[in-house]
Amino acid sequence: MGSFSWSDVIGTIEATWERFAGAVRSFSGIKDVIDILFVAVLVYYILKQFRRSQSIQVIKGLFLVAVLYLAVNLFEMNASAYLLRSVFSDILVILVVLFSSEIRQTLERVGNSRNISWKTLFSSGKTDEQKQYDTIDSVVRACANMSDKKIGSLIIFQRNSYLGDLTRRGVPVDSVINSAVIEGIFFPNAALHDGAIVINNNRVVAARCIIPLKNEKAVMEHVGTRHRAAIEISRTSDAVAVVTSEETGIISVALDGRLHRNLTDSELRNMLIKLLIESSPEERTRKVKSVFRRSKNEEKFEENENEKFEGAEYSARESNYSETNKADSDEKDGDSEDSVK
Ligand code: ATP
Ligand code: MG
Repeated sequence: MGSFSWSDVIGTIEATWERFAGAVRSFSGIKDVIDILFVAVLVYYILKQFRRSQSIQVIKGLFLVAVLYLAVNLFEMNASAYLLRSVFSDILVILVVLFSSEIRQTLERVGNSRNISWKTLFSSGKTDEQKQYDTIDSVVRACANMSDKKIGSLIIFQRNSYLGDLTRRGVPVDSVINSAVIEGIFFPNAALHDGAIVINNNRVVAARCIIPLKNEKAVMEHVGTRHRAAIEISRTSDAVAVVTSEETGIISVALDGRLHRNLTDSELRNMLIKLLIESSPEERTRKVKSVFRRSKNEEKFEENENEKFEGAEYSARESNYSETNKADSDEKDGDSEDSVK
């Protein structure tokens, strides 16, 4: 057995590295392409990160200072030019100080090997769709908990229709969404528990929103004001309203002026995914119909409804509500045609 020598090992490693480096250098064309691609990707990624945070404002500020610097140079304003030149001579240090938190966040993301994927590296965080799934999961979890504890709630998902008139009358919140936030809002006797919350762009926009109820006299016997408010907002807009009942713990969804009652957690989740994520605005109406497949009776009813609609707005909806409930109870009796799976 020959004697072991470190210098031989280091010599072998050096020779191998040299051979490898030589092979890489020989592809000089590819090297330039990689070089340019690397810089382009780096710039793109940095800009994405800046756009994500509020630092684009700082960049705009720096850009304005640069324009100012060019102007004072042009007009030979020596004192101002000197001042600005001294600012720009340390631009690298300034950038590092200004963007230290972005740089740290970026390095953390890159260093967190679990997060490294092309999708996360070059997207500005979560995609809109991922955020919507998170929102739906939080709402479903909150509704499931509130249903168990029989806590009343009314959650309105804004879609295309403008709900500013409603949110303006409520209390502005502008909060991230998680189940604890929602449950906290509706916790009995909490300051914001009364009325509805409105969700738009994956944020709670406002709480304690009171939906004006028309035809107060036409009170449906079996529906209280919370459920009527849900029906009303879904009738007057394309919003989706989720209700948990304080009396029964039942979860319901109001859509297009109809109340779909007695939903399980997974039915609620599937329904919200279909309505809020999978339906493009054009396809929405068609898909909604496939979510709640209608019985022939219901379609017949709708024809009647259209005839009756003028002048008898709420009572028509009232019948509509009963019809949906009938479908719901049919479903509970074993006919799963209308159920949301
Ligand atoms: P539950 O099944 O939870 O008892 P409900 O449909 O029977 O609901 P009520 O018992 O009348 O309705 O619920 C009253 C609550 O509903 C109020 O405390 C308030 O939080 C909410 N509510 C009532 N009217 C409105 C409205 N117009 N807009 C929004 N929320 C309302
Ligand atoms: Mg009640």
